[in-house]
Amino acid sequence: MKRLVYLDYNATSPIRSAVIDTMTAVMQSVGNPSSVHAAGRGARAKVEEARAQVAALVNARPRDVVFTSGGTEASNTVIRGVGAASILVSAIEHDCVFAAAKESGLPTYVIPTSDQGVVDMEALRGLLEKAEKPALVSVMLANNEIGAIQDVAAIVALAKEFGARVFTDAVQAAGKIPLDFKALGVDYLSLSAHKLGGPQGVGAIVLGPTAPLKSLIPGGGQELSRRSGTENVAGIAGFGTAAMEAMVGLGDMDRIRALRDKLESEVRATANDAIVVGSGADRLANTSCLIMPGVKGETQVMHFDLNGICVSSGSACSSGKVKVSHVLTAMGFAPELAECSIRVSLGYRTTEEDVDAFVAAWKSIYTRTRAR
Ligand code: PLP
Repeated sequence: MKRLVYLDYNATSPIRSAVIDTMTAVMQSVGNPSSVHAAGRGARAKVEEARAQVAALVNARPRDVVFTSGGTEASNTVIRGVGAASILVSAIEHDCVFAAAKESGLPTYVIPTSDQGVVDMEALRGLLEKAEKPALVSVMLANNEIGAIQDVAAIVALAKEFGARVFTDAVQAAGKIPLDFKALGVDYLSLSAHKLGGPQGVGAIVLGPTAPLKSLIPGGGQELSRRSGTENVAGIAGFGTAAMEAMVGLGDMDRIRALRDKLESEVRATANDAIVVGSGADRLANTSCLIMPGVKGETQVMHFDLNGICVSSGSACSSGKVKVSHVLTAMGFAPELAECSIRVSLGYRTTEEDVDAFVAAWKSIYTRTRAR
């Protein structure tokens, strides 16, 4: 059987073996963290250990970490639970942010970005001036499709002038760049375990000590009444281990960047009409968004798949849906070009052979379509 070349880490990353060990051990023990007996206390200890580990990943206080079922729930809880009068979202946010803003029924303003996917600060100032107060500003720390990293600390400084609170979706940034909740100065930050080598279906909100948050899911009052429902103990414990491993994994980012840069330079050397999206901005080291003009992203994904290579087109969560990337159109790409993009995302298990296999497949589809 052909070896699978997995280059879709921004969609989900392989579970680290230490995470599997942690989760297996936890699943072999019984206990509801809310039970007062020994079994319950054992489960509680695992949840609290993981809370401290996740807090360490982002330099926050453990008690300010609220576990959720993932990044989508985290975004929905924050956007709908802050008590804002209006919402300002960057044009390149993940769909879960747009959907939550729509669901909130609040006036929503879209902050434009530059052609490199960087939030336009002057436009943000203008929107803050006119938006109903208090506003909530939602700008992701790193984008899932192109990897653009925003200057969130500067956004916070501007938002504070208008008494606005700031939420940053750090789902893609975590484990790829160092994170410091306190230095960023945001009120809310979201995380998702499966983007950093943990299990799917677990995430967290990190919030400032005075930041309000209405629970999206009322019930038994778990998570200090900020998110009800019996905690996913094994998943949360796995998230804790993944957070620790991801911190160590930051040391591997230079290697990953070198592989990503090699991939991009070989693609550019093959085709001078190929576009590396957003390469002029500060970007995640593992992410590459490539446009092959004239060849639809879906077609490319299928071609790579036939060659045993996993990449995605558009945003990961919408693979399977045929829709032009709102991120690329927000950056000013015409739909005809935007629909010809794919996202390649590398990670801790990516090797040079994986990159070589990708480049060979990219060249073959390019040459074949250009020969027609
Ligand atoms: N935010 C970003 C930037 C993402 O890339 C994703 C997933 O692709 C999410 C949020 C949603 O996270 P989850 O899959 O944990 O619901």
